[in-house]
Amino acid sequence: MRLSRYFLPVLKETPREAQIVSHRYMLQAGMIKQSSAGIYSWLPLGFKMLRKLENIVHEEQAKAGHIAMLMPTLQSADLWRESGRYDGYGEEMLRMKDRHDRDMLFSPTAEEMFTDTFRSYVKSYKDLPLTLYQIQWKFRDEVRPRFGVMRGREFLMKDGYNFDIDKAAALHAYNRHLVTYLRTYERMGLQAIPMRADSGPIGGDYTHEFLVLADTGESEVFYDSAVTEISLGKRDVNFDDVDQCQAIMDEFTSLYARTDETHEEDLFNKVPEDRRRVARGIEVGQIFYFGTTYSEPLGATVDDGKGGQTPVHMGSHGIGVSRLLGAIIEASHDDKGIIWPEGVTPFHCGILNMRSGDDACDAACEDLYAQLTNAGLEPLYDDRDERAGAKFGTMDMIGLPWRITVGPRGIKNGVVELTSRRTGESEELSAADAVQRIVDIYTGL
Ligand code: ATP
Ligand code: MG
Repeated sequence: MRLSRYFLPVLKETPREAQIVSHRYMLQAGMIKQSSAGIYSWLPLGFKMLRKLENIVHEEQAKAGHIAMLMPTLQSADLWRESGRYDGYGEEMLRMKDRHDRDMLFSPTAEEMFTDTFRSYVKSYKDLPLTLYQIQWKFRDEVRPRFGVMRGREFLMKDGYNFDIDKAAALHAYNRHLVTYLRTYERMGLQAIPMRADSGPIGGDYTHEFLVLADTGESEVFYDSAVTEISLGKRDVNFDDVDQCQAIMDEFTSLYARTDETHEEDLFNKVPEDRRRVARGIEVGQIFYFGTTYSEPLGATVDDGKGGQTPVHMGSHGIGVSRLLGAIIEASHDDKGIIWPEGVTPFHCGILNMRSGDDACDAACEDLYAQLTNAGLEPLYDDRDERAGAKFGTMDMIGLPWRITVGPRGIKNGVVELTSRRTGESEELSAADAVQRIVDIYTGL
């Protein structure tokens, strides 16, 4: 992409309404524009990042055999009356009537819709296990939308639903989701710690929230610092291997890590004192096993192969896709702007022309642009006729992990400058070597 042809409305002034850094930078970097309280337009850079996050979510779900589909955002109240949640959900549910005076709502979550789809088509245990999911906009009429996309009213969520023959099979689905979520967050450069959470009105012991540690997080968390030393890394996971998934679940959840809702002081005190941490976190996902809570009232049963009918065991699993963008920025920025992790960056590399209009500089930039593009990467070339200072400011704000700077003096010496956004360190090298370095970095991920 050439910046002169892109739509990147970077703001010079600091937006006053933003209380936390991710909100401020998303506005300043031209990623989002507030439309009304908690509702945002996704400008090209923000939209591109949402797409990148969605792709990672889809790729990781596919590895576990989970199947993507899409439900309507506007749903009939009837289905929600069947489950008993229409009246129970409260003020967060946005309700409306259509022209025929029928009650409709904007889906805040989709247990009913997925259970209904399941019961319409699946009749036999032979069709299990099954996990369906979507990445779709949700609406919750939050009392206090704030912090930009962190607590919006309209937000993008991945929500998945597993259907299994019994509790043991559904718990394997639960473990499988934990593993896919860990991998998803790690690919986004985030450490999200699974913490025992409160199952609320649904009941049951099986729910974990995934929290990214950040001072601006809305949840208070208590954990053993040893949990921050575990990661999945590049280990191979076979999602059909029940024991392996259980072992990973145990590894990641046996140390003390809880939100304030489930915190128990006496248990916490058993953690060695030097490892006890009280901090704040951003909830970026949650997994649930809730048995037959929805399958029973909605009649989602299957032929059990022994002559009977049995309600399926279910769980639901959510990732806050749009909130994750805010979480990544909270976790990775400096006072000049965003610093995207290499695993999720809107463009792989910036090309900064210090003297647009100079034939040698222009030619060298065009050449870099062509080589990076031919290597399958997406560079962002700042070809605008602007002061160098403004160009550096924009590049720093939008946070591409790598930048190649081309100036007349370097060109004379046959070199360009390669700079890491994270460390700020620069190195002079030939254009060909710079391209090779960038290619190596991204192929090594
Ligand atoms: P919270 O406690 O933050 O209100 P929740 O527990 O009600 O969230 P879930 O039903 O677990 O939310 O939804 C799954 C995920 O969707 C959450 O883990 C979170 O990342 C995201 N999410 C929930 N509410 C919002 C919101 N208002 N804005 C942005 N993301 C949200
Ligand atoms: Mg939650």
